[in-house]
Amino acid sequence: MPELPPEIARRRTFAIIAHPDAGKTTLTEKLLLFGGAIQMAGAVKARGDARRARSDWMKVERERGISVTASVMSFEYDGRAFNLLDTPGHEDFSEDTYRTLTAVDSAVMVLDAAKGIETQTRKLFEVCRLRDVPIATFINKMDREGRDPFDLISEVENQLQLDVAPATWPIGMGREFKGVYDLIHDRLILIERGHSDAGIAVKGLDDPQLDALLPAHLVTKLREEVEMARGLMKPLDLKSYREGHLTPLFFGSAVNNFGVRELLHGLAEMAPPPRPQPAAGRANGTDEVEPSENKVSGFVFKIQANMDPKHRDRIAFFRLASGHFKRGMKLTHPRTQKQMAIHNPLLFLAADRELAEEAWAGDILGIPNHGSLRIGDALTEGEAIRFTGIPSFAPELLQRVRPDDPMKAKHLGRALEQLAEEGAARVFKPRMDSNWIVGVVGALQFDVLADRIRTEYDIPVHFEATTLHTARWVETENPLELKRFIDNNGSAIADDHDGAPVFMARNAWHLNHTQEQWPLVKFLATKEQS
Ligand code: GDP
Repeated sequence: MPELPPEIARRRTFAIIAHPDAGKTTLTEKLLLFGGAIQMAGAVKARGDARRARSDWMKVERERGISVTASVMSFEYDGRAFNLLDTPGHEDFSEDTYRTLTAVDSAVMVLDAAKGIETQTRKLFEVCRLRDVPIATFINKMDREGRDPFDLISEVENQLQLDVAPATWPIGMGREFKGVYDLIHDRLILIERGHSDAGIAVKGLDDPQLDALLPAHLVTKLREEVEMARGLMKPLDLKSYREGHLTPLFFGSAVNNFGVRELLHGLAEMAPPPRPQPAAGRANGTDEVEPSENKVSGFVFKIQANMDPKHRDRIAFFRLASGHFKRGMKLTHPRTQKQMAIHNPLLFLAADRELAEEAWAGDILGIPNHGSLRIGDALTEGEAIRFTGIPSFAPELLQRVRPDDPMKAKHLGRALEQLAEEGAARVFKPRMDSNWIVGVVGALQFDVLADRIRTEYDIPVHFEATTLHTARWVETENPLELKRFIDNNGSAIADDHDGAPVFMARNAWHLNHTQEQWPLVKFLATKEQS
């Protein structure tokens, strides 16, 4: 791999994946405490008009009680520039989470020591695995009675097929939890000394300091367990971690801010800097964009809309895949082949946001726009790059949406198209019905959508149940076959907001049966954003 410029090499862009309640929010808060509100040197300065624009916009944000700041949190620690991407916790919004994971270089998996791997943990893990995203593991809530460390480790090894290498080892648990032993640096980190203490350097596990500082039975147990762990488990191999085969393991208690520093330190030392991003249509014949490439490129992985309902303001979250971005740069938008001057790019700091004067590969910028940017869009310095692997999922829940006032049907159509472009829902126009069908992955999304259509577009709507089961994008190698399929299944065909044909199945049998009848047609459950 080509060597990275130092500014890129020091970036760590990551997300936390966890089942609800495992402690993701608490851990995030503590990580930000370490990062403080320290600003990236030289990167941020707002001037004149730009400063006013920013504060107007923040006012809107306050009034509406929404926050985009929480979507990305950038902070400095230990000479590293961290970008922590938030993933919504509620499972109804997992689609957003999946896309966010396309924009990170590594992840931290938080497990509750009493529960181990839970359903959401596994789902999120699978997404990371699809892209070989390296994962560090934080076993949280060690201040409570939890499961035996060996038991938790073998669960990770067996269920996730991941080698585990402990970076720290717990000393006691629950009420007896005294701290951890840092296996990499041979340090003893004790809970009673507080989180600001970097630990006590010891000369290995046989150091008599251990006996002086800890109850005898816990020292004996620690020595036995570590010996066993070292015998049973793979050494902490950096390459294996970065390739996604091995997870370094940290123990702690987020609520007590314990073990968090060790985790952060571990990320600073071991987590990968910006990785190459999969891409198509490259002039150089490769299928990746290297972060070290001189030209700026990147992709939109999330849209947060309607900061100001009157102006249809949106923030596109843009992951820089390569190059050194400077404010005011003119970038090409390959989808429309238009140029965009990026005058007000935002950088999200722990507690605030600022205009970004510059950014490097690995960073996340917020780009205000009026709907020109969609999820999956690239911006480049001219090359027609298409970033691949940003998924759109087949919705599992389908409802019909109608305006309370039938005169507003046309407006509703436009609102739905905008929401679909933003990625908030799938929207389908059946060929033989005048009502729109909205598809989502989680039921809560319907409520959010109804509320947004009412407040942002001033169209009161209601959702109605349908007998539809699922939707599949249909494709064929042969356009004639597709036409034949559509002609024969007219009442089950709809178009998505991009005009791509979709098969709407009434039930699982309907889907299977149709698939059997039409072997040359592909029924796709995901579609890459176009
Ligand atoms: P999230 O749903 O994953 O974001 O989890 P939260 O961070 O909101 O934590 C869920 C609950 O677990 C909250 O009541 C936290 O106070 C609690 N919690 C978080 N970390 C710890 C910990 O280390 N020990 C204990 N005992 N409770 C914790």
